[in-house]
Amino acid sequence: MRAALLRGKAQPLEIVDLEIAPPAPGEVKIRLVASGICRSDLSVTTGVLKSPMPVVLGHEAAGIVEELGEGVSSLKRGDRVVVSLSPACGECLFCNEGAPNRCFQMAPGMIGSTMLDGSNRLSQNGERIYQLCGVASFAEEAIVCARSCIVVDDDVPLERACLLGCGVLTGAGTVFNFPDIKPDTSLAIIGCGGVGLAAIQAARIKGVAPIIAIDIDPAKLTLAKELGAHHALDGNDDVQKAVRKLTGLGVHTAIEAIGNVATMESAWEMLRPGGLEIAVGMPRAGEKIPIRAGGLFLEKRLAGSTYGSSDPRRDIPRLLAHIRNGEFHLDPLVSEELPLERAQSALDDLAAGRGARHVIVFDH
Ligand SMILES: [Zn+2]
Ligand SMILES: [Zn+2]
Repeated sequence: MRAALLRGKAQPLEIVDLEIAPPAPGEVKIRLVASGICRSDLSVTTGVLKSPMPVVLGHEAAGIVEELGEGVSSLKRGDRVVVSLSPACGECLFCNEGAPNRCFQMAPGMIGSTMLDGSNRLSQNGERIYQLCGVASFAEEAIVCARSCIVVDDDVPLERACLLGCGVLTGAGTVFNFPDIKPDTSLAIIGCGGVGLAAIQAARIKGVAPIIAIDIDPAKLTLAKELGAHHALDGNDDVQKAVRKLTGLGVHTAIEAIGNVATMESAWEMLRPGGLEIAVGMPRAGEKIPIRAGGLFLEKRLAGSTYGSSDPRRDIPRLLAHIRNGEFHLDPLVSEELPLERAQSALDDLAAGRGARHVIVFDH
């Protein structure tokens, strides 16, 4: 089966033929219909995020179940599924604390780019090929953990539903799951790519006002307003001054959806006393955020959020319900559909800040 392979940092993706082993117990083989292209994929190519190589990138997957590993009873052949990043084992410390977004069983995929048992199902002429996040969806087929699969009804196209696997769940989940983000409180969202635009829509659904979108791309700001932002600010301007003009004291909550320490600092500065910054973008692991400590005496707070602080099995169906009743729109998030052969050009667009979300659509 064809896949886009990354052999090493800063190398271009190569379209290659790979061997794929059958699913092991607890796994399923899916035929990919679509894969979103997320900033984290780009970050592996640049070395901001580490992965063993060679690796097949891609972790925003949707497809059709083709083969069941031993013991899989939750799915059947032909099921249309979105693949979440959390196997949500239901047994570990974090799952028991109600935080499956921190499930211990995410570690092999997220850190080691392997399946849960530490091995891989992909190879090329006998050479081991790693699978990013245990998903590896820049490929025609994938072996994934059955527990990570969420069934999607026929009325939501998989070419859009794939975004629920990472970006949309991260953005919308953060808004839905943080109790600080309430109706009629102010919210700034810095970065209006796939994650930020999902957060804006969730905020509109939750009745948050005003919603202030900030980006340096005028096209994304236009989209942000169409999807529910009350104000759109050009990040090249003096955003602190503009936020004060709109809110008086500053915002109740600011979401940083880029993973850039400069915008994390900017989010901190635009908070009102008692306000909360939520950093959802993924910075380079060793980076430090230069925030003014004086803000702590104004009772400002800084929180991280991973994967929308979500429970995928609860929150993906909840999002599908909002999509079905017309409140949440996936179409505007997709700037381009492209074939696997153009995965590299999509990463180049993402690096240049062009477009919201690119989606690889497979032609089987
Ligand atoms: Zn767990
Ligand atoms: Zn992602």
